[in-house]
Formats: sequence, C-alpha cells, structure tokens
Amino acid sequence: QIPNSLEARDVAFQLHSYTDARKHEEMGPLVIEKGEGIYVEDNSGKRYIEAMAGLWSVAVGFGEKRLVEAAARQMEKLPYYHTFAHRTHGPSVELAEKLVNMAPVPMSKAYFTNSGSEANDTAIKLIWYRSNAMGKPDKKKIISRVRGYHGVTIASASLTGLVNNHRSFDLPIANILHTSSPHYRTMKKDGETEVDFAKRCATELEDLILAEGPDTIAAFFGEPVIGAGGVVLPPEGYWEQIQPILKKYDILFVADEVICGFGRTGNMFGTETYNLQPDIMTLSKQLSSSYLPISALLVNEKVYGPVADESNKIGTFGHGYTASGHPVAAAVALENLKIIEERDLVGHVRDISPTFLKRLNSLQEHPLVIEARGIGLIGAVELAHESVKDTPGVLGGKVNASYLEKGLISRALGDTMAFCPPLIMSETQVNDMFDIAEAGINEVAKGL
Ligand code: PLP
Repeated sequence: QIPNSLEARDVAFQLHSYTDARKHEEMGPLVIEKGEGIYVEDNSGKRYIEAMAGLWSVAVGFGEKRLVEAAARQMEKLPYYHTFAHRTHGPSVELAEKLVNMAPVPMSKAYFTNSGSEANDTAIKLIWYRSNAMGKPDKKKIISRVRGYHGVTIASASLTGLVNNHRSFDLPIANILHTSSPHYRTMKKDGETEVDFAKRCATELEDLILAEGPDTIAAFFGEPVIGAGGVVLPPEGYWEQIQPILKKYDILFVADEVICGFGRTGNMFGTETYNLQPDIMTLSKQLSSSYLPISALLVNEKVYGPVADESNKIGTFGHGYTASGHPVAAAVALENLKIIEERDLVGHVRDISPTFLKRLNSLQEHPLVIEARGIGLIGAVELAHESVKDTPGVLGGKVNASYLEKGLISRALGDTMAFCPPLIMSETQVNDMFDIAEAGINEVAKGL
C-alpha cells in the first residue's frame, strides 16, 4: 500500500466486520468513494454494478437526492430527540403510523431500533417481558432455524443458525433452540418430494416443541426467504405446514423481514408472498435504503395487549436505545417509502423479475453451478467443483475476485454467489449484471 493512502490508513487503524484480520493487509481494502443508481465507484475511478445493493439494502439506489434533502430538512428542524418516557416527535409518529398501516396483517404498534440485530434482540426481550407480564415465566424458549440469519448481538446471534456466528462466542445462549434448515436440495432424503420434505420439517418442529414442552416455547423466528444463510427459498408447502403448528401450541411467529421487506420478493413484504400471519415483523435495511440506520418491530395486539394491560404487574418495559426512532433516520425512511410507492418499485420488481430469474436460472446449465435459486429480485447460484470440494469457500472467493475485476460486486456466501440488486435496476442492467456473472464463472472454470 502507498504510505498514507486511505488503504494504508485503513489497514493501520480499522478493524472490520466479517473480515479475516490476518489477511486484510495482503488482500488490501477496496475503497468505495461514491455511488449513483445501481453503480458504485472506487477511489481509482473504477465503476461496479452493486449487485448486492450494499448489504441487501439500497432499494432506491445510490445518490438519491430526495433522501439527502429529507435528512437535511429534518437536521435543521430537530436533529435529535428521543422517544423515552412518553416523549415523541413528528417523524417517529408519522413513521409508526405509516408502518402499522402498511403492514399486510393487522399490527398494533411500531417500536424503533437501529439495526436488524437490535430489532430481533428487542423482539426477544419483548417476548420474554410479555411472558413474565402474563404470569408465564417458563414460556421463554425460542426456536429459529439452521442457516437463518437474524443478526449478531448476543441474543440475535444466538438466533442466527450459522456456525461462524456461534463458534468462539459460546453461543447460542440458553433458551434458544434450532430446527433444521429448510434447504431442500441439501436436506432432502432420497426420493423425497419437496412437499414431503416440507412436511418432515414441520414434523421435526412439532417433535421439538413436544419434547421441550409446548408451555415452554414462546416464539419461532424465520425469514420468509433466508438471505445471508445462502438465499434459501422455503420448499413448497413449508410455511403452510409450519404456521398451524405454531398456532396449535400458542407460539408467537416472528417474521424477520429485514431483507424481504419493502419489495424484495415482488410484494411489499415476504409475508404477503408466502401468506404468512406473523405476530411480530422485524424491519430494517430497505426501510431507509440504509441511507441512515433505522429498524423497527411491528407487533400485533396479541403481543402488545398483555404488555399494556392493567394485569401487567411487571411495570415499565425496561428497554430502549438513545437513537430509537431517531428523527433524521425516520424522516429519511418516510421519504424512502414515499419513493418506493410513488415509483411503484414493487410493481417494477414484478416486471423485471422474469428476466432476472431467467438469467439466473440459465446459469444452472453451467457445469460449475449446482443450483440456482431466486424469487423477485433476490437470487443465488451455488458453485461446486471436484478439484476444490475439500476447501469450501475457495470457489466462491475465486468467482468473487473475477467479478470484482470485471466490475461486479456480488457476495460470496461460502461457494454461493448472491444477487440482490437495488430495486430500481432496469431490465438492461439485469442483463449487464448477468453477462458479467456468467463471464466470471466461465473464467474461473477455465482455470480449474
Ligand atoms: N435479519 C436479517 C434477515 C438480516 O439479513 C440481517 C442482516 O443482514 C439482520 C437481521 C441483522 O441486521 P443488522 O446487520 O442491521 O444488525
């Protein structure tokens, strides 16, 4: 690295998320300097298609002036105030009202947090608090799924069903249990149909509930479509069979809509795409297109009622963040939702999704690809090759490097390449993205 360059100072001073610190200097940081639409540019002036919308989040694309102006207006008027102890302000009220009204199932209240992890962490605490308030202190266990991703705080990382998030942190914490990954291709038994596999998943969940004692299980967390765990679509009939079991044993259903929310799957929420009936929805990322950090939980009356009821002898919900409902973040989120609605970005996703899925699925023909999967404007291709079968992640790393060199930012989740571009992507840009995606895989295949 050039002395005193941003790259050299980054290596000198910054500890990064999800980055192997032992290799950071050798790999060299990629400095992203600016963005416009679906593109970002690095500090050498090289342009990339941002096929991950940052981290599954920049719905309206980079450089959206309306969000900048919304932030500036709110900064001048009231740059900060909190929402503790009966205090409130316009942007948080408006956003709460907007989200409750947008919810595809009846919801009572919105609670604001600052990240997906905090939203899920808060959901856990609210669920525990509610059980105590209802005089059911033993109803505390929570079930999530292997490969599910729900965040990285101590409790949300415990929900996350990935070894990397548990190993070396002594997680999961007590009371968090995991049921099997719903990934059909890797989990199916010989001859098992997708519907039969979904049924087995549901039976496994019910067996777990019965073994633990239904009165001890408070909630089940799931993403409508698993994102960071490799873009795993629910197998046919999955949610139809899981949900009645939760109802049968009075278990709350938390839909983690942090990735699916606000258009990603071709409906405003994944909850609509899969006909879900969650009691709690957690939202973040596309809520503000990640221009500012903000997240939220929507809770229905079943959750909220016992908390606000006179019979609750516990008292105040002893929880809250300094920046909960931050007025500038809330103002940006409101403007972002306005853009999503005015431009009918959800309709746009439906319009371009057939091209996105056609191009994605055509990669399945490639000898290096063992599975392509996607819905709406989220997808992935899973790669495999005999020569690297004992070193998972090597192939993903190679393809990732080739993409970067060709001007495409995807994300290697092990050997699975994810695609989750800004919702504003045009049909031509979808084709541009997959032209590079295909060329990168071809190049790596030739070198194996
Ligand atoms: N839930 C889901 C489905 C996610 O994809 C993520 C992040 O990728 C989170 C929760 C955690 O969000 P954050 O990184 O904002 O804490």
